[in-house]
Amino acid sequence: MRSDSLSDRLGAEVWLKLENLQPSGSFKLRGLGLASERAVANGARRLVIASGGNAGLAVAWAARALRVPVTVVVPLTTGGQRRDLLRSLGAEVEVEGAAWDEAHVRAAVVAQEQHGALLHPFDDPVVWEGHAALVAECAADMAEPPGSVVVAVGGGGLLCGVLQGMHAAGWTEVPVVAAETEGAASYAAALAAGEPVTLPAITSIATTLGAKRVCDRAVRWAKEHPIRSALCTDAEAVAACRRFADDHRFLVEPACGAALAVLPGIRTPGPILVVVCGGAGVTLAELEAWTHLPGTPRAAVP
Ligand SMILES: *Cc1c(COP(=O)(O)O)cnc(C)c1O
Repeated sequence: MRSDSLSDRLGAEVWLKLENLQPSGSFKLRGLGLASERAVANGARRLVIASGGNAGLAVAWAARALRVPVTVVVPLTTGGQRRDLLRSLGAEVEVEGAAWDEAHVRAAVVAQEQHGALLHPFDDPVVWEGHAALVAECAADMAEPPGSVVVAVGGGGLLCGVLQGMHAAGWTEVPVVAAETEGAASYAAALAAGEPVTLPAITSIATTLGAKRVCDRAVRWAKEHPIRSALCTDAEAVAACRRFADDHRFLVEPACGAALAVLPGIRTPGPILVVVCGGAGVTLAELEAWTHLPGTPRAAVP
């Protein structure tokens, strides 16, 4: 969809791929839905994933559609509302560990014990293949290739999928802008180092982008394709979410706000295609609370 408001404000053609409209609230359903389908076709009797966020929701949604049981292992930081949302989709929720890594270790044990398939939120070629389909849809709809593609980066699964889709569509020269918040900049750090590095901590409210280390493939892609890192503050990401809600009447997570917040810095000619990755981890009340964090501008661009 062309964004009239963003295009007017930025003086550039801005196109949105509205992955916030996926039934589970984010693009995650593409890759993890495909991985779930394949796992069940290969005989898995249960799906298992560690995720307190959109990957867990996507697998819970897919499992319900595929009529298989699913265990979602969430870290302690995942609040009661999110656990309830997972349970309402039929998922069995286990709580383990202070952070994702510990939940993932537990998920591996559950998968082993219950003949389940352990799914990974971002480091899996099948997940990338599923995500890639979003680019094929854009290529079918757009009259010309975009001048750049903007995508938020957490662990890099979306980035890998988008790049795979771009190469399948022949968009091999189209630059990609990889957006992160400053407190979750594991991809920026990896690009600077030339290899994945593990951040000591995540200090951003965009917890969905909070993989401390990106997958190897995401870093290798930077040697095969023009990719530029772009960072924003939490305040800018939140302001971009607010503006997006006013412009388009959609509520998206700060993780997605990061991709919107970096748009004014893009100088490449031609239309800008933004992957609006969405996210279910946001409510009006949360967006309001984040807005009052110190340093958040009341009215920001874009
Ligand atoms: C998972 C997710 C991301 C980051 O995707 P990765 O594949 O981890 O890079 C960004 N935004 C939203 C809404 C997500 O759910």
